[in-house]
Amino acid sequence: MQRAAQSWHREGRRIGFVPTMGFLHDGHMSLVRDARRRVGPDGIVIVSIYVNPTQFAPTEDLSRYPRDLKRDYALCRADGVDGIFLPSDAVMYPGRDAGAYSTYVAEESLTRRMEGASRPTHFRGVTTIVAKLFHCVLPDVAVFGAKDWQQAVVIRRMTVDLNFPIQIVVAPTGRASDGLALSSRNAYLSPTEREQATVLWRALNAARVAVAKKTVSVAELEKAVRRLIATAPAARVDYVEFFDGETLEPAVQVKRGTHMALAVFLGKTRLIDNARL
Ligand code: AMP
Repeated sequence: MQRAAQSWHREGRRIGFVPTMGFLHDGHMSLVRDARRRVGPDGIVIVSIYVNPTQFAPTEDLSRYPRDLKRDYALCRADGVDGIFLPSDAVMYPGRDAGAYSTYVAEESLTRRMEGASRPTHFRGVTTIVAKLFHCVLPDVAVFGAKDWQQAVVIRRMTVDLNFPIQIVVAPTGRASDGLALSSRNAYLSPTEREQATVLWRALNAARVAVAKKTVSVAELEKAVRRLIATAPAARVDYVEFFDGETLEPAVQVKRGTHMALAVFLGKTRLIDNARL
């Protein structure tokens, strides 16, 4: 991968990169199309597919994470992807099984709340793997989804802190027609859970309406959001947070432009979503 990337650079071609865990959907493909627009027709667009073991906790869904490489290839081909980088565990984590893998990249301030609090080892796995993928693919621009807002902010910070010469782009969240954010994990939902999963989007919209004309206290809005989510019997709130979209600092009051993120279990499946209100 590195040799190919170096030779593309020598030819003066820009490399656009979309890291994924596969089981691709149109949310992923909109990142691919964004990468293409940025590198131009002569540029190279690379998608990586790697279900990264270090970003899953032992109790999480690593072994049952959905996979369909054939379909992923077809989608990539249809959108003009130039290459799929499909590293093996042996390439990504040499010696890990023997306990010899010992270097990690960890962001230590933006990862304290939300996904970082609910999934304590998650972000260390993400930043480590993304740093490794950046070193393999050597992209000029990498595109991440707004769907994982905290992740995008953390990655952007990592590239600044560690001087990666890479432009980080955050592209809008792709949604189903009823508002549910597209996610590989939606495949786990039963028909009833899928129906009720729109409660995340409805909660974001209700909050947006609530702050459209006035400032509200965090406690008051969080209560209203939790009450709305409780109307979906299959739903259980993990967190609801209001914060500054750039710094991720918790909001004191919620107003137009404040960012909201939430994680909700639908049955056993944990879904996340967020929006600028
Ligand atoms: P994943 O395969 O879920 O790890 O996601 C790979 C990349 O796709 C990440 O940058 C995600 O934020 C992004 N992504 C996932 N779902 C969506 C979506 N519905 N819309 C836009 N980007 C997404």
